[in-house]
Amino acid sequence: MSTPLRRHDAIVVGARPAGAATAMLLARGGRDVLVLESARPGTDTLSTHALMRGAVVQLERWGLLSAVVAAGAPAVTATEFHYGDDVVTVAARPGTTPLRAPRRTVLDPILTDAARAAGAHVVFGARVTGLLRDGRGTVTGVEYVERGTRAPVRAHAAVVVGADGRRSTVAEAVAAPLEHVGEASSGVLYSYVPGVGTDRYRWHYRPGRTAGVIPTTGGEACVWAGVPTARFDALRGDLEGAYRALVTEAAPDVELGPGPLRVRGFPGVPGFVRRAGGPGWALVGDAGYFKDPLTAHGITDALRDAELLARALLGSSERTRPAALRDYQDTRDRLSADLAALTERIASYRWDLAELRELLPALSRAMRPEVETLRALHDPVPAAA
Ligand SMILES: Cc1cc2nc3c(=O)[nH]c(=O)nc-3n(C[C@H](O)[C@H](O)[C@H](O)COP(=O)(O)OP(=O)(O)OC[C@H]3O[C@@H](n4cnc5c(N)ncnc54)[C@H](O)[C@@H]3O)c2cc1C
Repeated sequence: MSTPLRRHDAIVVGARPAGAATAMLLARGGRDVLVLESARPGTDTLSTHALMRGAVVQLERWGLLSAVVAAGAPAVTATEFHYGDDVVTVAARPGTTPLRAPRRTVLDPILTDAARAAGAHVVFGARVTGLLRDGRGTVTGVEYVERGTRAPVRAHAAVVVGADGRRSTVAEAVAAPLEHVGEASSGVLYSYVPGVGTDRYRWHYRPGRTAGVIPTTGGEACVWAGVPTARFDALRGDLEGAYRALVTEAAPDVELGPGPLRVRGFPGVPGFVRRAGGPGWALVGDAGYFKDPLTAHGITDALRDAELLARALLGSSERTRPAALRDYQDTRDRLSADLAALTERIASYRWDLAELRELLPALSRAMRPEVETLRALHDPVPAAA
């Protein structure tokens, strides 16, 4: 029996930062967008959620920062870098919009609601199982299964955007070439704790272990502890005990309190960069470029690349799309290169505190071109050429 044919300008697979933002921007640009997300709406995901400057610039420009503020994400007006017991505090420049760190149960729905409000059709509980192609191998759509049903549904589009995370089904189906694979990775444990500070990020570094405090919604802070991946397996037996011990070692002044804590852990995987697009497909967010979470930049990258990709798609016709996708990839890679290399070095844990005192300011400097690029993106997207 044939399944109903659907045609869209774009199908976006995945509805978290990369997918929801891409869909929102394409829909705001007048495109007919279908978004397919296998998870249920409003669910959490394995991620802490410190936003960096670029993400705040975009959320503000998109008119979404007020929703983040209204949801109770406190203003982050300084960052403390603890090199062992020595603290360097960097205050936000006066007049700059404060950073925020909403939980993913807050940020992701704000983005999907904005995509819907712009006209995108967002379907949760819809898992993409494969891609459709024409006789020349160009991707022309997807096959997906909705939760509670068995019959696969087919949907067609001019472009399929894989915003489906690190283990992207779209990337795998198109065999997206890996352009770079890192070596280092780090593990992280985190939990939510009330009463440990509301106005600053705190990053604590000691040889072989790290910790951080990210003030967030609900009057809590996300407190995380990090180790090299090689040490992570030994922690699995007693996650809460290991977490408490690591936080105490790396950040002795952070009080976790006596209560039981729900601790989540990520063992770490090396970063990678995949080709960003091909005939009928494109990748955005972690699907195309993943790096170790120790530098807390994945959501910021995902939002940045969503805008770069959306502009490439909105500004190109079928004929000029290959060149537009190459430009998208070039810009993504140019803005990411230094950040990725520094993240790789920091995630290796093969530094001493003297080297780290150079790596972290270098990381801040490496964010500047990204922020400048995003600040300059206020013009309307050019008409398709
Ligand atoms: C432990 C940890 C801590 C982190 N901390 C930070 C931090 O502090 N700051 C920061 O900026 N970043 C952080 N990151 C990185 C950040 O989580 C990611 O970079 C970000 O989530 C990428 O967003 P995305 O939209 O590309 O992918 P994801 O958030 O992974 O979303 C992909 C979506 O695609 C859906 N999907 C997958 N396959 C399919 C399919 N076949 N069909 C339909 N839907 C599908 C999934 O259900 C998922 O909802 C952290 C990551 C980890 C693991």
